[in-house]
Amino acid sequence: MRRVREHIEIKSLDQIKLMREAGLVVARGLAAMRDAVAPGVSTADLDAIARDVLAVEGATSSFLNYGFPPFPAVICASVNAEIVHGIPSPDTVLHEGDLISLDFGAIVDGWHGDAAITVPVGGVSAAAAALSAACEKSLWDGLVAARVDGRLTDISHAVETSVHGSGNYGIVTGYGGHGIGTQMHMDPHVQNIGRPGRGAPLVPGMALAIEPMITLGTSATRELNDHWTVATADGSLAAHWEHTIAILDDGPWVLTAPDGGQAELAARGVELSATAAVGG
Ligand code: MG
Repeated sequence: MRRVREHIEIKSLDQIKLMREAGLVVARGLAAMRDAVAPGVSTADLDAIARDVLAVEGATSSFLNYGFPPFPAVICASVNAEIVHGIPSPDTVLHEGDLISLDFGAIVDGWHGDAAITVPVGGVSAAAAALSAACEKSLWDGLVAARVDGRLTDISHAVETSVHGSGNYGIVTGYGGHGIGTQMHMDPHVQNIGRPGRGAPLVPGMALAIEPMITLGTSATRELNDHWTVATADGSLAAHWEHTIAILDDGPWVLTAPDGGQAELAARGVELSATAAVGG
């Protein structure tokens, strides 16, 4: 069997700065939606907020009309046992205790940004809060592994190790992160489990969306009849966090984090690229 070689898009610094603009649109949209999450709000209401942010920022959606059947919204809203790719609907109304994943992508000048957060609706169970915290932690532990001289599966291994260190969670393996740039989904695929030291060498100019998805049950998934929504097969609660990161020669830049990733990376002993530090 011949192995098909991946084509990984390498960006210039100027191109990564445009991706930062897209990343900031994504960050603003997610913050606006997070602030609006409450019992009685529908996932269509949240989609409308994200559409407004795109309009105000002069950006377009990475998600709208993507794939087949064409995705009908600018966000994915995945509630409770839904993991990713949930379709917003006025009929999906949030209730106290729900856990919702919000995934948002934006295009600025042809360059994409992609990120996701998991948000509690009012007060949630301790298990739900711990699940989301473990997933977010594994995202940052994965981002730290996205560094020059590393290999792609160093990221996968870091995510997996982090999740297992947090508790007994299922790690979704049928879906994962991806290269990103002039398209939302590009090579390489970034698995959330794996042995380190394999796959593409990580080099300056690469941009990756890293997105762990974990559950309170098993890793098995099922696709709903809408042909998009991915849910846990066992009905257990799921969480999903994502950031887009650029690898620069002097360090990382988390393009979808308002602070460029400074706080979380510093807490893990990693310094941001000077470009991120001065350019914001
Ligand atoms: Mg993504």
